Amino acid sequence: MFVDSHCHLDKLDYQDLHQGIGDVVAKAKAANVTELLSVGVTLDAFPNMMEMIAPYDNVYASCGVHPLDVESDFSFELMHQYASHTKVVAIGETGLDYHYQPETKALQQQRFEQQVALAVELNKPLIIHTRNAREDTLDILRRGGAEKCGGVIHCFTEDLAFAQAAMELGFYISISGIVTFRQATELKEVVKALPLERLLIETDSPYLAPVPHRGKQNQPAYVVEVAAYIAQLRGISLSEVGQKTSDNFRNLFLR
Ligand SMILES: [Zn+2]
Ligand SMILES: [Zn+2]
Repeated sequence: MFVDSHCHLDKLDYQDLHQGIGDVVAKAKAANVTELLSVGVTLDAFPNMMEMIAPYDNVYASCGVHPLDVESDFSFELMHQYASHTKVVAIGETGLDYHYQPETKALQQQRFEQQVALAVELNKPLIIHTRNAREDTLDILRRGGAEKCGGVIHCFTEDLAFAQAAMELGFYISISGIVTFRQATELKEVVKALPLERLLIETDSPYLAPVPHRGKQNQPAYVVEVAAYIAQLRGISLSEVGQKTSDNFRNLFLR
């Protein structure tokens, strides 16, 4: 059994690749991927995503404003209302990305702080996206009291020291298909060193398809390739990776 802890189900190709979201969920189930978390990136797109996933009890949602979408429409009250929905199990994705948009740094920090505050208030875990912003990310999490709600560093590509600092705040570390890429040598070492009790797996679909699907559009069913790669790296069974990461998912998001 496997869980895809981070996908963007409203962004998949429903023209040529899939016949609707039911098809995506069925393909995941056929690969033994039994639960999915569809992650929001703007408030504008949130109602449509919720409508798409509404019929599926095994699909959860998060509500957030992505650091690369901070110029989209925002209202704290509206976000509070959206995030209070029972199907919403997390706040995010939020965080900081100084790699692609250093020019929106100040607004990214403001939105991030607002989402940390909301997560603490609603006691829902945070889904964090961070790139080129290690110190500021930890600083905002600490100042906002994020250890009270916990969360996950998604699509992890940082170093072991950052992972340890995040785990000290009670955070989990989520591994994407990047770990299967040949050039990701440092990440492979980090994945070997992390405690299994803190690991999650994700596709971040439609992005970042793992080997051997690279070049194709990613989908939740492919999270099994991420699990298989981690199992091989750590010298443990695929079923152990599936079981542990599924337990971790439940402990964090379905508590
Ligand atoms: Zn992200
Ligand atoms: Zn994402």
